Amino acid sequence: MKAQSANTTTESTIQNDFIRQIIAEEVKTNKNEEQVVTRFPPEPNGYLHIGHAKSICLNFGIAAEHEGRQCYLRFDDTNPSKENLEYVESIKTDVHWLGYDWGDRLRHSSDYFDQLYDYAIALIKMNKAYVCSLTTEQIKESRGTLRDQGKNSPYRDRSISENLDLFERMKAGEFADGEQVLRAKIDMASPNLNMRDPIIYRIKKMPHQMTGEKWCIYPMYDFTHCLSDAIEGITHSLCTLEFEDHRPLYDWILDTLKTPRHPQQIEFARLSLNYTVLSKRKLQELVENNLVSGWDDPRMPTLSGMRRRGYTSSAIRDFCDRIGVTRKNTQIEMGALENCIRKDLEAKTVRVMAVLKPLRVVIENYSEDQVEQLDAPNHPDDASMGTHQVPFSRVLYIEQEDFLEAPPKKFFRLAPGREVRLRYAYFITCQAVIKDEKGDIVELRCTYDPETRGGSAPDGRKVKGTLHWVSESHAIKAEVRLYDRLFNHPNPGADGSDFKAALNPNSMEVLSDTLVEASLANAQAGVRYQFERKGYFCVDPVDSSKEALVFNRIVTLRDSWAKIEKANKRA
Ligand code: ATP
Ligand code: MG
Repeated sequence: MKAQSANTTTESTIQNDFIRQIIAEEVKTNKNEEQVVTRFPPEPNGYLHIGHAKSICLNFGIAAEHEGRQCYLRFDDTNPSKENLEYVESIKTDVHWLGYDWGDRLRHSSDYFDQLYDYAIALIKMNKAYVCSLTTEQIKESRGTLRDQGKNSPYRDRSISENLDLFERMKAGEFADGEQVLRAKIDMASPNLNMRDPIIYRIKKMPHQMTGEKWCIYPMYDFTHCLSDAIEGITHSLCTLEFEDHRPLYDWILDTLKTPRHPQQIEFARLSLNYTVLSKRKLQELVENNLVSGWDDPRMPTLSGMRRRGYTSSAIRDFCDRIGVTRKNTQIEMGALENCIRKDLEAKTVRVMAVLKPLRVVIENYSEDQVEQLDAPNHPDDASMGTHQVPFSRVLYIEQEDFLEAPPKKFFRLAPGREVRLRYAYFITCQAVIKDEKGDIVELRCTYDPETRGGSAPDGRKVKGTLHWVSESHAIKAEVRLYDRLFNHPNPGADGSDFKAALNPNSMEVLSDTLVEASLANAQAGVRYQFERKGYFCVDPVDSSKEALVFNRIVTLRDSWAKIEKANKRA
């Protein structure tokens, strides 16, 4: 059967945000000789999340719009204690999955460790950097505050030759971690704390995943980032707003060292989404405390989790297009992301029937040995998607919640004596309710009207409800995982409490008795379906097998949180 699987593209809308406007203006005036070169610079200390997708779409998107189409994927790997190759590999997988390709522009900051070291020596020789022997604590203390300016380090006036000698010995491993650092010599009275003689090199006696044992000193982020940008010939270094205060330092380093190229740093607002957290550190905490099954837990806002759950990359790109790029920090509603995936899947997924919580129905006037194959369209509005057959027989299952013994007024589904339609099949009427000794309903006895095959009555009589169903002897048992939001607070931890306290205890419900229609027997990992009336589902790529199908709910058909949020706002 034809169904929707990974990696489909949608046409993306033409973006025209403030960054693209700046670049367009510059290209017009030929500032960068018409070259536009960008980079996506993740630190490989965790898996990418939906916030990173915003940055990937922006950087790779802009590059794609300009001749040369140059966007680097650069691993910002300056902290070996937190980084590893598992993260590196996952990041590559995720960027590719999102639909972007760096071609031969894969780099690591560690590729430049030799050059960065030479640049540090150059700064020392210009008397613009010195080895400081204060402890980390002392450096912090003497840095001052926003109100009070900092104090010069007693080591600030070391001679160039002493600095060269000490820095060389730092590199040679003569000192312990934290015993010495190299600091830029800028201005301890600067109103910008980042300019108060920032540390640019530290000792860390630890092997690095790329450079092995070669180094025991590692450059700091601020020193590494701008120089890596310059080395690669990045024209526009796009980063999130919290780096605005680092821009003077970015520019100071490049100006002081007179690098051949001086990229322009432009900041934009980071994506923040309600009902989740977008911080690798926090996500890692969830993984380490086994509060989720891993980085790819389908409830995680990671790209690997979303992919496993069944999100399409086209929906995520569409989401990034819609939220746009601005300089204003706002929180985006999770509902907006969910609408993007609904919209994408609505058009692409095959409709099938699955009964999540089954209730047995026996059609008393349907003969025991009869089976009919009924035609079901794969999509109600798109005949080109074809049809498939669903078997109808004497014993069926419907959803438990589609029957009520004493229905309230607006309940239009099945009830004693009432007639409803079984989708693509017949009208049935409930004749009797069978209960076990505890009084729980275990089976319904119904009759069908043979005249209503296909779902309409020749006499024109109407029914108000249409139910999905499966045939007992044909249906396949499956496990279904109903995912909901990982947090039940719109802003986990915002009030100063532990963000983990806002975890939604009902974020996953596992149903093990679900029955899916026979056409799903060969459902392949990663393929998505709409279970009629129940939502969009995806065959779990990790746990599902032909013998034991597992489906993840990607998203419900409608936004059930909208009501809750409205009520919360009123309260
Ligand atoms: P985290 O806080 O999750 O660790 P980070 O900024 O430390 O995020 P990096 O690996 O350094 O993560 O990020 C790589 C790039 O992605 C950076 O340019 C960063 O600005 C960008 N980025 C990270 N989070 C977001 C976000 N929520 N929205 C937009 N861009 C983001
Ligand atoms: Mg970071």
